[in-house]
Amino acid sequence: MRLINHKEALQQDIFDIISAATAKLGVDSYVIGGYVRDYLLQRGTPKDIDIVTVGSGIDLARKVAELLPGKPKVQVFKNFGTAMLRWNELEVEFVGARKESYRSDSRKPIVENGSLKDDQDRRDFTINALAFSLQKDNFGDLLDPFNGVEDLKQGLIRTPLDPDITYSDDPLRMLRAIRFASQLHFEIFPESLQAISQNKNRIKIVSKERVVDELNKILMSDKPSIGLSLLFKTGLLHIILPELTNLQGIEEKEGQKHKDNFWHTLEVVDNISEHTDDLWLRWAALLHDIGKAPTKRFDKKIGWTFHGHEFVGGKMVFKLFKRLRMPLNEKMKFVQKMVAMSSRPIVLAQDIVTDSAVRRLIFDAGEHVDDLMTLCEADITTKNPKKFRKYHQNFKIVRQKIVEVEERDHIRNFQPPISGEDIMKTFKLSPSREIGIIKDAIKEAILEGDIPNDYDAAYDFMLKKGKELGLKAGEVETK
Ligand code: ATP
Repeated sequence: MRLINHKEALQQDIFDIISAATAKLGVDSYVIGGYVRDYLLQRGTPKDIDIVTVGSGIDLARKVAELLPGKPKVQVFKNFGTAMLRWNELEVEFVGARKESYRSDSRKPIVENGSLKDDQDRRDFTINALAFSLQKDNFGDLLDPFNGVEDLKQGLIRTPLDPDITYSDDPLRMLRAIRFASQLHFEIFPESLQAISQNKNRIKIVSKERVVDELNKILMSDKPSIGLSLLFKTGLLHIILPELTNLQGIEEKEGQKHKDNFWHTLEVVDNISEHTDDLWLRWAALLHDIGKAPTKRFDKKIGWTFHGHEFVGGKMVFKLFKRLRMPLNEKMKFVQKMVAMSSRPIVLAQDIVTDSAVRRLIFDAGEHVDDLMTLCEADITTKNPKKFRKYHQNFKIVRQKIVEVEERDHIRNFQPPISGEDIMKTFKLSPSREIGIIKDAIKEAILEGDIPNDYDAAYDFMLKKGKELGLKAGEVETK
């Protein structure tokens, strides 16, 4: 094997120190995996460094820490035989070279000590098995037993060993393959892709958290449709996110067709990814139409309808997040809200954009109104250039109106100018139904534009409304 040297990849002080620690312990060690891959792809200098040593990873980590200025703390994971330290901005993981064998019911292998080659054999992809030597006499040599460099050049994801066994042993690798394809715009080697399809059901032994980690990484890639369509073609998506695959297909009845909402969704996700790096807004784009499968109906007069799909979709978001053990916090609520409101600006843009409709939109979307607009703009996937321009132009008008109305009326973080307590004091009321009625009427009057969003106007309106309800104001308070 001809050795290519990449000393220039190891200019950071940390590598000299690991090399010195290695020499002191009389073991061999190597930088391996993502650091080498990303360096060779010129994807910048990664902050995560994986070191493999033909010896004890924990001993090496301790020795390195001793030699490093500031003597950073070593975090030891005894069960895994690994150790980690943080230094400057770097996170360095140390592991002893190992050989692995698998049982069918678990992704956790039986592990024994091994050589560097054994360790490279257990790596998932040829491009992740690349290693730089840290020994003094061949510092920077690239060890590439599976022609990973060639695969890097050709943009190929390929497993070092038989793909069928590799994916069956640890099915998480199927998602990793697709994630790397999406992040790097690589192709999965045909045999490998086939092995993924064959082993798709093995994904069920992978924890939900790991699945979601990979899904998130796919969603955060610059063109998520690469990963999502691979998930679809291999059948993995049908297992992980059936709500999405249920959207696939075009039905025709009495000469009327609806669009394929699955492929449409992938376009929307790609579109939104050009405008936001917010993971949760990307999730919202992914899920914005999931309510369409259960609400699809055909009506002889009006054709295909998906009545109430936004509301149903919002509910499905909760179930989906719960099933995948995703956070059920404000992030989930945000996605729900985006899905539930996903048609609002569209309806608005089809009509004359009135101030009161815009005020209602701002009121309902609150601080997320811009995100909602971004989602709706991404939702425009028409291939008719005239319509495309027209819809974008309409949304531009809505956006302008949002700014104007918000500047004037401050609806975004709406706090009623008159509180329930104000109403109680004015009419000498104890807690009662009337208070709610008056509060609501004030809010409605502001949103409709009947009164401005300020205290004086709302106060007068309250008095008028109270009178209508037969209430008597006590001492009239001034501000
Ligand atoms: P990224 O940081 O972008 O996720 P990475 O390749 O550094 O990429 P890690 O998860 O940090 O990913 O893994 C480090 C290395 O460990 C990989 O490059 C690969 O060699 C190996 N590896 C990780 N997970 C697996 C796995 N499931 N099976 C085999 N090897 C793996």
